[in-house]
Amino acid sequence: MVLTLVSLEEGRLTASARGCLKPRAKLRYAAEPMNFGEYMLAGKGDRYIVTDCVQYDSFSPVTADIDKYYAACMILELLTKLSPESQPGIFLGAVKELKAMAYEGKDARSAACDFLLSALREGGNGLDFSVCADCGCILEGDAAFSDSDGIVCPHCAPWDAIRVDAASRAFIAGENRDVPEAIKIRAVMLLSDFLYRTQGVRPDSSYFKEQE
Ligand SMILES: [Zn+2]
Repeated sequence: MVLTLVSLEEGRLTASARGCLKPRAKLRYAAEPMNFGEYMLAGKGDRYIVTDCVQYDSFSPVTADIDKYYAACMILELLTKLSPESQPGIFLGAVKELKAMAYEGKDARSAACDFLLSALREGGNGLDFSVCADCGCILEGDAAFSDSDGIVCPHCAPWDAIRVDAASRAFIAGENRDVPEAIKIRAVMLLSDFLYRTQGVRPDSSYFKEQE
């Protein structure tokens, strides 16, 4: 079995986990998804072998809640895709959201939303959902996303901008997180679309299929 690991210092790498798979294997947890720890690797290049692992956390409460589990999978999938090289800011953003879902009662959509915002920011595409990027007015109702300007008010929106409805905008901006599930899903879909348009990476369609 080949594991995909994402490291704070090295970014994405693969390692085989020969000793980790037998039911009684000492290192079985090292091959579990969402395992967070210090991996000891032997070898080099694309021929690493996991020789030991000190577990820091497995975020186990996340696996007990199906919505949190899907959100965590989406976060880790995007972290993996965004980390051909080391991406410490995105890495720490992912750990922060897994921890918040597991131990701080944060809901799945808010965690997905905040991770997407941090991935955009770390990728140099930080979006401000409170102020129009063009005229500087305070955004209160609808807004729009344009590839060239970011988030703008309806007056400044070019013809091909993508509409961001008022409820989704307020959710993303953190002004109102207490909204129906459908709005949260729409907000996360919008952000994931903006990440794709700016950084070329998006989650597998299965994440959003589960929401239908
Ligand atoms: Zn404006």
